[in-house]
Amino acid sequence: MTPTKEEEYSQQEAQLDDLYREVILDHYRNPRYRGSLPAPTVSREGYNPLCGDEVTLDVTAKDGVVVEVAFRGSGCSISQSSASMMTEAIMGKTVQQVESLFKGFTAMMQGSEDIDLESLGDLEALAGVRKFPVRVKCATLAWHTLQEALQALEEGKG
Ligand code: ZN
Repeated sequence: MTPTKEEEYSQQEAQLDDLYREVILDHYRNPRYRGSLPAPTVSREGYNPLCGDEVTLDVTAKDGVVVEVAFRGSGCSISQSSASMMTEAIMGKTVQQVESLFKGFTAMMQGSEDIDLESLGDLEALAGVRKFPVRVKCATLAWHTLQEALQALEEGKG
């Protein structure tokens, strides 16, 4: 019998290191900064058609600093926990710091060894997802949505 997508995903998740899995499940069950902002500077939506994951990200920036952030969405545990970890990582950071986090995280997900994992905090837990190339898109969805939001911020489009 061919496993369903859900069965396949839970098998993949079971293969993650225990520590990584715990961090991912903790963010999935207790998402940080989940919700929406009443008047965000920018709001962007992202969609991962491979898995059906959706993430909407609201960001308020003031003087080049992320002062408020919120996300909402639906999808697999990796996509939603990644969004939660990301909001926690970028809150209170300057746009430049956020861009460097984006680069570090993307490099990690592309398999680069030349990165400072310590600087990524909980995000390091997603390194285990590299074993499952299809799921990398789940882990990077929120970040690509963030990148669009940052571009809009830079262009002053809101
Ligand atoms: Zn997914």
